[in-house]
Amino acid sequence: MLNDVYSKKITELREKNNMSMSGLADRVNTDEQTVLSWENGESVPSAESFYKMAKVFSVSMDIFFESEEEKKTVEKLQGMESLNQLYRIGCGPSSSHTMGPEKACILFKEKNSDADNFKAILYGSLAKTGKGHCTDSVIINTLAPIPCEVEFDYLKNDIEHPNTMDLYAFKDGEQTDFIRVFSVGGGRIEFEGSKSATEPIVYNLSTFKDIKAYCKEKKYRLWQYVDEVEGEYIWDYLATVWKTMKEAVERGIEDEGILPGGLEVQKKAKYLYNMEHIGESAETRENREVCSYAFAVSEQNASGNRIVTAPTCGASGVVPAVLYYMQHKHGFTDEKILKALATAGLIGNLVKTNASISGAECGCQAEVGTACAMAATALGELFGLKRGKIEYAAEIAIEHHLGLTCDPICGLVQIPCIERNAVAAMRAINAVNLASFLSETRKISLDNVIETMKKTGLDIHAAYRETSEGGLATLEI
Ligand code: SF4
Repeated sequence: MLNDVYSKKITELREKNNMSMSGLADRVNTDEQTVLSWENGESVPSAESFYKMAKVFSVSMDIFFESEEEKKTVEKLQGMESLNQLYRIGCGPSSSHTMGPEKACILFKEKNSDADNFKAILYGSLAKTGKGHCTDSVIINTLAPIPCEVEFDYLKNDIEHPNTMDLYAFKDGEQTDFIRVFSVGGGRIEFEGSKSATEPIVYNLSTFKDIKAYCKEKKYRLWQYVDEVEGEYIWDYLATVWKTMKEAVERGIEDEGILPGGLEVQKKAKYLYNMEHIGESAETRENREVCSYAFAVSEQNASGNRIVTAPTCGASGVVPAVLYYMQHKHGFTDEKILKALATAGLIGNLVKTNASISGAECGCQAEVGTACAMAATALGELFGLKRGKIEYAAEIAIEHHLGLTCDPICGLVQIPCIERNAVAAMRAINAVNLASFLSETRKISLDNVIETMKKTGLDIHAAYRETSEGGLATLEI
């Protein structure tokens, strides 16, 4: 059991440090009963709790998987996190550049509550596009009222992850703490030396092939696997996700004006939504409405308003656009929409686990390409397609985004991001239609195409991975 690995290590470290259970509980802001349940293997600590324990014991988080035997256990049981770590509710414009750093600062501030000064240094994509994404103001605001100086290091390139941030704490002029953080996409963070244990693993299967085989054996639709693993809780969470998505669409199609950031980009969702052509065909109407919903959410994201990462802020318009449109067109109930979101989340989780959902890591194929696959999957569930056809729809959606670069102008999540969400929403409809018409004679599996996305992402030149140094980002506007 994976829990045994954690629990033995916690007990061992606590005893080695001559600490009682209640003493450890005090240090990590929990209660004795919770520590007991960790040590009994009845529950797994959260990422924050692991982080705090690593600091209390002055060890790397990897120590929890230290022995070779334990490492093998972790590798063998490598699975996927909860859908609540994929669909995150928060404010835009960038999950990697705002939500991730915000989370890191909250934890760092909590741990260094007696500090009188902080300093943050941003590297890689966080440095190059941090201004446009408002990363510096998010850091300053989150650490306030304690002052924080933010430095952008544009030159350092020997970094382990393209979104790297160093945080320092000071007291009376002396440095008291330091941590290196990686913002790995979708608002998720990892700490240096602790890649293997950030959030609890809840799904023990992490390939579509295995999930499909399991669902076939149990005669499950894909959402039933989510239900079995995550339980009742996930439906309440997805209900909040759907409510937030709908609110973003509805706010967006009423909103007007210029987006912040200095590019003078006009908000267009309201215009698109209301601009019915004379004698408009059903196809044109569908295109216009779906695109207006995608613009609506993406513009809300670019304005720093509340959205859901699906799977990221930059790609947050795709899934809500198709689901909102289909609910209004066909009257699908919220219950059906939640099942579609669960199914889509499973596919987003597979990409997150086996490739990447970060534009800085793998280009826009990882963000908008994944969002398109999630939307196609959600539609496949709404239309009652079989597992194989749902897989086909997701595979088509990713395949035709392979190699898509990330080159936001001025580092703002506006051009090409907003339009790109609209185009991907239409592509998702196209992908699910194609999959439903064609028989399953395809040669490429979803797992194959996810693996290809990762390889392609590693080959994409850094100038096209959210650094604003190549492509459209070099245009004078
Ligand atoms: S181009 Fe794509 S990956 Fe890059 S910021 Fe825009 S939406 Fe995100």
